[in-house]
Amino acid sequence: MPHTEHSDRLLGWYRQAVRFIIPADCIGCGLPLRDDPIPFFCRRCWNRIVPTTGPACSRCDLPFASPAATSRTPDHQCQTCLERPPAYERAWTLYPYLPPLQDAICSFKYRGKVALAKPLAALMAGALPAGLDADLIVPVPLHPARLRAREFNQSLLLADHLGRLLSRPVSATHLIRILATDPQTTLTRPERLRNLRQAFGVRQPEALAGRRILLVDDVFTTGATLNECAKTLLKSGAASVCALTLARTMGTHLVPDRLFAGQAAGSRPVPEV
Ligand SMILES: [Zn+2]
Ligand SMILES: [Zn+2]
Repeated sequence: MPHTEHSDRLLGWYRQAVRFIIPADCIGCGLPLRDDPIPFFCRRCWNRIVPTTGPACSRCDLPFASPAATSRTPDHQCQTCLERPPAYERAWTLYPYLPPLQDAICSFKYRGKVALAKPLAALMAGALPAGLDADLIVPVPLHPARLRAREFNQSLLLADHLGRLLSRPVSATHLIRILATDPQTTLTRPERLRNLRQAFGVRQPEALAGRRILLVDDVFTTGATLNECAKTLLKSGAASVCALTLARTMGTHLVPDRLFAGQAAGSRPVPEV
């Protein structure tokens, strides 16, 4: 039996045993967990997490409110991308940031439930767009001070699992965060951008020269962080930069009704880091 399969099975038995002794409830719906395969979530809640589909900006993946937006021009871009083209070539933002995925990301990121990294990365792998290819996967870095406080970089954990699933190398050392930025949500857009400028740097740029890089982060809010990372990587000689996030915050008018029903009610804003 391969090592990972063996340790997965052991982990499964351990989880069952812990649930037998200390019954746990699903973070999504509060019902008791039984033999559900995903830690902290019941099968029913996890199955409610479905990717965003439908017409979207061909650059930043922002869903369009009108289904007609891309019927004549499939490469149609949103106003923001046309006015201020981002440094990344393309972003894919996979799932709407709504419960229960939102609860899963918050539990993973802010409450240290790192066992969710693997199923969350599997959600990403299950919704990858056709044609996505890269030489190197790079997670959005945390500043060392933030890393010390949180003890892990959620984007690195996702990137690490994705790298294994896609058989691509992951670099957590070349792109670094050199400036600690204030919690972003308290700032206006110009302040956020000023804050982010020069927040990132590159170590050993020769390792990135000519490489096609896939930047990985958990949540796409405005895209400003990914844009600054992409600028820094391109300045250091990367051939191209695309971005992939597990989820995207979006106005409720952009969420398809079938996803919105029963999900958006408990939605809460979460700061981008
Ligand atoms: Zn549930
Ligand atoms: Zn766009």
